Amino acid sequence: MSQLSHLMFEARAAAESLSDFMSGGRLRLGVTGLSRAGKTVFITALAHQLTRAHAVQQNKQLPLFRAMAEGRLRAGHLDPQPDYSVPRFAYEEHLLALTGPSRHWPHSTRRVSELRVSIDYDSHLWSKRRMGKKTQHLDIDIVDYPGEWLLDLPLLSKSFSQWSQETLSAASAEARSPIANDWRKETAAIDPKSRYDEETAQKLTRLFTAYLAQAKTERFALSTLPPGRFLMPGDLEGSPALTFAPLPVTQDEDLPHRSFGREMARRYDAYKSQIVRPFFQDHFARLDRQIVLIDTLAALNSGPEAVRDLETALADVLMAFRTGRSTLLSSMFRPKIDKILFAATKADHLHHTSHDRLEAVLRLLTSRAIARAEGVGAKIGVIALAAVRATREAVVRHEGEQLMAIVGTPLAGERIGLEAFDGESEGAIFPGDLPQDPKELFEGAALGLSDDEAEFRFLKFRPPIAKFGDDAQPLPLPHIRMDRAMEFLIGDRLA
Ligand code: GDP
Repeated sequence: MSQLSHLMFEARAAAESLSDFMSGGRLRLGVTGLSRAGKTVFITALAHQLTRAHAVQQNKQLPLFRAMAEGRLRAGHLDPQPDYSVPRFAYEEHLLALTGPSRHWPHSTRRVSELRVSIDYDSHLWSKRRMGKKTQHLDIDIVDYPGEWLLDLPLLSKSFSQWSQETLSAASAEARSPIANDWRKETAAIDPKSRYDEETAQKLTRLFTAYLAQAKTERFALSTLPPGRFLMPGDLEGSPALTFAPLPVTQDEDLPHRSFGREMARRYDAYKSQIVRPFFQDHFARLDRQIVLIDTLAALNSGPEAVRDLETALADVLMAFRTGRSTLLSSMFRPKIDKILFAATKADHLHHTSHDRLEAVLRLLTSRAIARAEGVGAKIGVIALAAVRATREAVVRHEGEQLMAIVGTPLAGERIGLEAFDGESEGAIFPGDLPQDPKELFEGAALGLSDDEAEFRFLKFRPPIAKFGDDAQPLPLPHIRMDRAMEFLIGDRLA
């Protein structure tokens, strides 16, 4: 980073601290996770709960979120966000999707967006000491961004040839090579020293992107490899900085002017300097707290290969949070995050007896990542939650046996064996128990099931039917452990 932009960054940080001081508290909360992890649903539910404090308090919906449970959270409302050039999180649209007559899941996160929720609360400390102002104010700026973008941080210290070699060698691994075939063949046919042509570059990029996308489908559930924008391009789709692919070139190879290899390397460098670096500088480095959402069940559904792969991706994601001053990258971006919460989402797909086990799975999945991030200086938590609980629990008798079932309305087209659901009728599902020892999930077969069975292990449900308050506005939807997540992420700022 140049000296000037470093100074500007410092000046802005100082200005922000001053404005925090003048306006009461402010907290920038990052919400991230790989695509479909549940970011959009989580933010919508969080903002809804905070802005409907009275209804939440009346219904005792968040017993472990202390400020709310103690009746100290006076009011929450949406306010204009501080960054005018960042798209606003489409809260109203997403809430309508979840609670409107056609109740459906909202459209997912595809780019960075922001939402400010302002909270008035009675200070707990005031009641004790009777000092200062009783009612205080906290602005929570929720920043939603694709987790895929975090995987790009290591690229900043890698040359085109290094990245190319790593990416090509990952693609030859057993789980990846069948889906990488077409792209690898095309790559092998290109001489990096030959003259560059755009048509071939586009074709190669298309095949490379298709490989990355296929690895991410439910069938394979392999975690994403960088460049993160290839699957989550935001507004940059089709731009030259996103039209490149790895090539077998060596570090000090002298590539001729206008050659294929030279142009690809230039685009790779442009991707780093014009896309990756500004994202880390403008968004990531300014976060105070972070929740990383993880669709652990999707990986479990796909088997041990996907579980191991998810573990690797999480370790890579957490690399971005290393704050030790020793690395070049951290000294450039200086994230000041002091709390990180890892959350396994969609826990409502399991019976409550397995929620602690799901947390244990996630703890194991993240343990290597957390150990590697020693010196992060941040408090790290692990939780299993459902931002919106689409199921309820029931005991069903089957052949004289009592079975713990979950009941919900499966999405139209979901199947169990030959039975297809129409999106209107309810179904009882026996999700089974997660093993007591989470290590079993890293080895052997998926949850002890055959491949055929594993596919319908976790059905997708429609959101629950919303209830409405006297003001005809929807009341917050049921959830699992959102209160614990809120207490961890913001509880101490409402003391
Ligand atoms: P994003 O890509 O991370 O923004 O993911 P979304 O928030 O759009 O969630 C992706 C999908 O996961 C949704 O369309 C839902 O099908 C499902 N989902 C997300 N959160 C929940 C939840 O709390 N409960 C249930 N049952 N499904 C969820």
